[in-house]
Amino acid sequence: MHIIVIGGGIGGMAAAAELAIDGHSVTLLEKNTCLGGKLNQVDTGEFRFDTGPSLLTMPYLLDELFDRAELPQSERPEYIPLNPGCRYFWQNGTRFDASSDLPATLEQIRRIAPDDETGYVRFLGHSADLYEKTAETFLFNPLRGWSDLKSLKLSDVFRINATKTVSGVVDRYVESPYLRQFFKRFTTYNGSSPFQAPATLNVIPFVELAQGGWYVKGGMYRIAETLETILKKYDVTIRTGCDVTQILTEDKAATGVKTTDNQLLEADAVVANSDAHETYTRLLAEDVVSASVRKKQNRIEPSCSGFVLLLGTDRKWDQLHHHNIFFSDDYRNEFEDIFTRKVLPDDPTIYVADTSFTDTEHAPPGGSNLFVLINAPYITGKPDPEKSEEYANRIIRMMEKRGLSNLSDHIRYKQIIDPHDFYDWFRSNKGSIYGTSSNSKMAAFMRPRNRSPYVDRLYLCGGSTHPGGGIPLVLLSARHAVRALREDEF
Ligand SMILES: Cc1cc2nc3c(=O)[nH]c(=O)nc-3n(C[C@H](O)[C@H](O)[C@H](O)COP(=O)(O)OP(=O)(O)OC[C@H]3O[C@@H](n4cnc5c(N)ncnc54)[C@H](O)[C@@H]3O)c2cc1C
Repeated sequence: MHIIVIGGGIGGMAAAAELAIDGHSVTLLEKNTCLGGKLNQVDTGEFRFDTGPSLLTMPYLLDELFDRAELPQSERPEYIPLNPGCRYFWQNGTRFDASSDLPATLEQIRRIAPDDETGYVRFLGHSADLYEKTAETFLFNPLRGWSDLKSLKLSDVFRINATKTVSGVVDRYVESPYLRQFFKRFTTYNGSSPFQAPATLNVIPFVELAQGGWYVKGGMYRIAETLETILKKYDVTIRTGCDVTQILTEDKAATGVKTTDNQLLEADAVVANSDAHETYTRLLAEDVVSASVRKKQNRIEPSCSGFVLLLGTDRKWDQLHHHNIFFSDDYRNEFEDIFTRKVLPDDPTIYVADTSFTDTEHAPPGGSNLFVLINAPYITGKPDPEKSEEYANRIIRMMEKRGLSNLSDHIRYKQIIDPHDFYDWFRSNKGSIYGTSSNSKMAAFMRPRNRSPYVDRLYLCGGSTHPGGGIPLVLLSARHAVRALREDEF
């Protein structure tokens, strides 16, 4: 069978690899000049930056794919555990190093929130319990229909806190404003607001704090490079710079694609790693996808976007570890800016990854490569480079106030990546960086499924599809899409 995969993000590459290992002839079409999608990099020669993910969780999902591809250990990325996992800073000078090393973290808690030591442990227990109750149903299961919910015990339905918010439940476990903000922060991994998202998302801290979080030696982009190695090993035809403009259909079944240079490429099945919104509203003709389906797609709220600054500096910053978070003073207000007012947050939480802390060669000797990420609203207006530049300068001034003294005098390389860039580069719906948001109780059920219910032989994978965004979930989406294709005997 010949299968076309649209898009060379993590999801598209993983699906193409699985299908090629199954013995199919696979062609992967990517509009950009390199593979990786949002998992990408900028290399200036002097400074190297990952421009997307900086943290890897559930790496065993990658390993399972590498095993299936019989990839020798020597060709696999090296995962590096970080201790502390992340360093947190508050405006009043309080600092907290969190890691999956519980005794070390508890020592920190005794310092900043002594009354919450038990609450912290109880919350982690709650998070572990949520994982046990929900992972099988909501992650490892393709969730094709209501019958797929049967793995969720009726008694558990009421215990996964789907009707409460992340924030409400966190507040029941811990009193300290530091720990409350800390636990609420994990909802942003899914591009959502802790003040709106269902408390089931309190499962995320367990994944990072108990199972662990890793960096990849050499940079996260090594993951994309390794997947590309597998594609080549299994003879996948890779065409970069190839923009798909239409998914061709016959009798409501996918039969191939049309590209910008008007080439018609035939296939027995199509796997779309393009954003599901793009797939349903732009790539499929109007007589194939009805107006009501398009309307439904338009109603699904995208995740937040990101405002990124890449800063190459000629000095190191002693207070920084590999992952760092400078928290805002008013977390609720920050999320209201992002999701309600849909403006760049006035007082943002600033995430800084300094991979030169671990990979010294990512910056010239004595220098640093700072990847700065602010959670930003998805696009509602037109690009405004002047406003982006102004905001970038404001962020730099804020970082100076938070202890990176005279940062602006030490910048040797600066690049801004704003939500419009995320749309232009990857065509993610409104520049979203994690797919769809989980700000409503029904979000998990609204997320597009991995087998299209509207077009036969069309399968979807990637962060905008079930089970959601982030590297591990995207890998699972590819698995579900391939499984659906295998099940459909044609
Ligand atoms: C700044 C940032 C930080 C992040 N941090 C983390 C993190 O720390 N940990 C984590 O796990 N995740 C993180 N994520 C999320 C993670 O990067 C994404 O969930 C994941 O990479 C998305 O993969 P995907 O397969 O959905 O596709 P994408 O990466 O969106 O790739 C889709 C590909 O399809 C191509 N395409 C689209 N339309 C067409 C078309 N018509 N024709 C041809 N090609 C097309 C696009 O160019 C793109 O390359 C982060 C993302 C960003 C942007």
